Amino acid sequence: MTPQDDTQIRSIVIVGGGSAGWMTAAALANALGGSAKITLIESEAIGTVGVGEATIPPIRLFNTRLGISESDFIRETKGSFKLGIEFAGWTREGESYFHPFGSYGADFDVHTPFHHYWLADRLNGAQAGRLDDYTVSWEVAKSGRFGRPSRDPRQVQSRMDYAYHFDATLYAAYLRRYAEARGVSRVEGKVEHVSLHAETGFIESVTLDDGRTLVGQLFVDCTGFIGVLIERAMQTGYEDWSRWLPANRAVAMATSSDADPLPYTRSTARAAGWQWRIPLQHRTGNGYVYCDRYASPEIAEATLRDTVEGEPLAEPKHLRFVTGRRKQFWNRNCVAVGLSAGFMEPLESTSLHLIQFGIMRLLTLFPDQTFSPTLAEEYNRLTVAEYERIRDFLLLHYIANDRDEPFWRDMRQVELPDELAFKLEHFRRAGIISLDGRELFGKPSWLAVLVGQGVLPERAPGLAGRAGERGIPVAERLSQVRQAIVAAPGGMARHGDFIRELIG
Ligand SMILES: Cc1cc2nc3c(=O)[nH]c(=O)nc-3n(C[C@H](O)[C@H](O)[C@H](O)COP(=O)(O)OP(=O)(O)OC[C@H]3O[C@@H](n4cnc5c(N)ncnc54)[C@H](O)[C@@H]3O)c2cc1C
Repeated sequence: MTPQDDTQIRSIVIVGGGSAGWMTAAALANALGGSAKITLIESEAIGTVGVGEATIPPIRLFNTRLGISESDFIRETKGSFKLGIEFAGWTREGESYFHPFGSYGADFDVHTPFHHYWLADRLNGAQAGRLDDYTVSWEVAKSGRFGRPSRDPRQVQSRMDYAYHFDATLYAAYLRRYAEARGVSRVEGKVEHVSLHAETGFIESVTLDDGRTLVGQLFVDCTGFIGVLIERAMQTGYEDWSRWLPANRAVAMATSSDADPLPYTRSTARAAGWQWRIPLQHRTGNGYVYCDRYASPEIAEATLRDTVEGEPLAEPKHLRFVTGRRKQFWNRNCVAVGLSAGFMEPLESTSLHLIQFGIMRLLTLFPDQTFSPTLAEEYNRLTVAEYERIRDFLLLHYIANDRDEPFWRDMRQVELPDELAFKLEHFRRAGIISLDGRELFGKPSWLAVLVGQGVLPERAPGLAGRAGERGIPVAERLSQVRQAIVAAPGGMARHGDFIRELIG
């Protein structure tokens, strides 16, 4: 054994068995390959949050790294494919736009992105049509079809990207089987006491309600909103972001579905928030995210019941949350992953993604028994930046609405975080989308929401207002792209048939 081996982490305790706990257990078991003992403690009596069904494209990377095939995944989680999110009524009642996965149009030339041409055309009063007309993802999604993106960059189908809708409880169960097959031990029980080292404040052990004590070197807190280790024991603190994103409740209810699932999420603006519709193979997930200063739980539940399609499959579930983040995600020898780390409303399906990236970052910065504080500092620095960028992107959806209800009027008055104000100013003045290259949501996403919410620049950037390269008029090029997009769904299967074929 080398001296370095002596300091390796040999024992990891994960507390919590929701999506966060089992994603962490599966990823650690896969990455560590038996070189550390991994124990997961969960309490059936407490249960899991039981919602969380829509994702964004990087989830595919998580499954690929674990060696999980798409067909197994879709079969086991009763999943469906997701090409983006339709935002209905977010500017005003009756209007909608699509936030696509993937990008817009096609590349015309090297220095001018496609959307500059579209903006120039739009600002010149020409008739290029809606931005949505230039996303192949929406054309395919609204046709109820699905196909994987083309690898040929000359095809507009190469501009698509996709994620999944799935039953998160089934996903956790699947990952549990995966993790247990790779040596993870599961312990049923409720953590009642956490022992901290008197001088260092490091966690030494946890004690269960039946008196058993489990020691460990690295602890991962996946206990949900309560944060049994990171907050209740270590008192790390929480930064409340309600002044930007005031929604603090949700009511969720699954309904039956006779038709094949649609390959996209719908988010519909309501008086005090917004409602999701997530189509799975066997049911539709629905929920109303709202702020209780503008609607009571009774009104929210009635709104949900009145507007869902299909028959309710269970009584509605009411949830409360405070938008924000833990002051430190990694504190001493404890890393918080999942709802224990923080929460932002599921408007862009980012929670499971934050779990995934929290785990990937932990693996990249994996500590040894010396727990260099630099590792925790770096982990926290990167995670704070990721949370803040997502927060700003979510807030962008609200600030330029044209709705009349008090909630929406108040959202127009929210004081913006500096970086979001800077980005808005750049776009309004010159049509520039200023991202720093590390953003989860790239330029097509910002463009979709900016234009979708009716924010347009004073002028189009760069050369786009001039005749295009090689002398082809811009209107003609736009029209060619549109024709290719309209034709794209024709070669694809119905989404339901695609799933049936895949899962056999
Ligand atoms: C309304 C709503 C909608 C959402 N929609 C989406 C979505 O569409 N997409 C998305 O990506 N995410 C979504 N999320 C977030 C998603 O649900 C969570 O990120 C995800 O489920 C992870 O939860 P978790 O595992 O951290 O916590 P939980 O599911 O709450 O699990 C906590 C675990 O800890 C255990 N536990 C707690 N205390 C103890 C204790 N003392 N001892 C032992 N065990 C304990 C529990 O038994 C449980 O196993 C949504 C969240 C909400 C609230």
